Amino acid sequence: MEQHIQPVVAELTEEQSSEPPSTMRAVQSPSSCPTENETPLCKKLSQWNDWRWQIRNRIRSLDQLAQYVPSLSARHELQKVIEKYPMAITPYYASVIQRADMSDPVFRMSVPNIQEVFDPPCLTDDPLEEHQDMPVPGLVHRYRDRALLIATTMCSMYCRHCTRKRIAGTRETAISARRMRQVQEYLFNHPEITDVIISGGDPLTMSDSAIEAMLSTLRSVPSVQVIRIGTRVPVVLPMRITDELVNMLKKYHPLWINTHFNHPQELTEEARAACAKLADAGIPLGNQTVLLRGVNDDPQVIERLCRGLIRTRVRPYYIYQCDLVRGVEHFRTSVRKGIEIMEYLRGRVSGIAIPTFVVDAPHGGGKIPVLPTYVVSMSPTHTVLRNYEGLLVSYPEPGVDSEPAAGSAKAEPGVWELASGKADVILPAHTQRMNRREKIGARRSSAVQAEATGYLFDA
Ligand code: SF4
Repeated sequence: MEQHIQPVVAELTEEQSSEPPSTMRAVQSPSSCPTENETPLCKKLSQWNDWRWQIRNRIRSLDQLAQYVPSLSARHELQKVIEKYPMAITPYYASVIQRADMSDPVFRMSVPNIQEVFDPPCLTDDPLEEHQDMPVPGLVHRYRDRALLIATTMCSMYCRHCTRKRIAGTRETAISARRMRQVQEYLFNHPEITDVIISGGDPLTMSDSAIEAMLSTLRSVPSVQVIRIGTRVPVVLPMRITDELVNMLKKYHPLWINTHFNHPQELTEEARAACAKLADAGIPLGNQTVLLRGVNDDPQVIERLCRGLIRTRVRPYYIYQCDLVRGVEHFRTSVRKGIEIMEYLRGRVSGIAIPTFVVDAPHGGGKIPVLPTYVVSMSPTHTVLRNYEGLLVSYPEPGVDSEPAAGSAKAEPGVWELASGKADVILPAHTQRMNRREKIGARRSSAVQAEATGYLFDA
């Protein structure tokens, strides 16, 4: 499917404003839109900002997809893919595509790929064994104090990398009132659960009244302190974040929302406005990214994403290693790639912009943080740590009263000297910081040094 983008998508990209893209009509006519009524995107453009219109007009079939990608190949195979793993792409999210081929991250995350049906044996439908941790249908109780509620199987856009491919979109349905009562009863009987995460599918594809019914049921359980919602709606359907929705949500504080941005291209004006609306309502926002081959397996892409998220008032929370789920092999990266990204971020961006890289362990083992190695050595008296620059430093444990050898450079220390307290640091040469220090040192005369304690108060 390597080909140039159709004009309609290009125009939509340029028109990511709050107004419906008026040029779409002209661009689609006459070749791809002979009359106004022939394609959904030609109809009712004034409803572009209506989230229900976006859902009704999702790209769901290969014929619809072909309007964007006319020379769509391997249709027979792709049909098999979408019969197994449904496709849905909102017109809005399609408008974020810049190139209609797999080199475009948004295209790659939303358009089916024939590789989805070729699975190596290590992949399963439910690698996290959520099903086995469901004491009542729809509620996953894994960690002691938290539970995850699968509120719906519907999403506005079906991510090709979804970890719940086994259920997302297979039937577009929401949890019934009867099931919700069972969930409520379980929560009443398990007061150790203080934090409930509403997930799916995407819970914000439900109506305001259905979401409110669910929130008030959860709030009726006194031991539930915090409610969190996991949603990709701000990314793929930002017009869903309406004033009415936000005004309803803020009645149920403390309420947190985790979004799912994977690439800086997704941080459009509309997506950022949706996040701003939620943040203005006092809802803390976090972001869960999945590390995906060909999408964001690049330290600089993740850096741009994290910086963009912070500017959007969304805290980068987790980067997930891709789960061992069927249908996603072509998205998987090595764990080493995640470590490389974490190594790149530390020291380069603020700690507030650095998510935790985790492997969600198979067999329901939960999230295991994976980090570059910062503890270099240990002794009973000292721990040797390294920083992002390669500086090695000796940290004395409490009760150690011997003076470290001053002037470690003269002592020519190694790691053993640091661990045994015979030296306190090995400085890297010629880093930006060290070069800056040298210049500062050269400028600072002994007279100025004498006044050094006053530097904070200079006019
Ligand atoms: S929005 Fe979430 S649940 Fe839905 S398809 Fe994407 S990753 Fe899966």
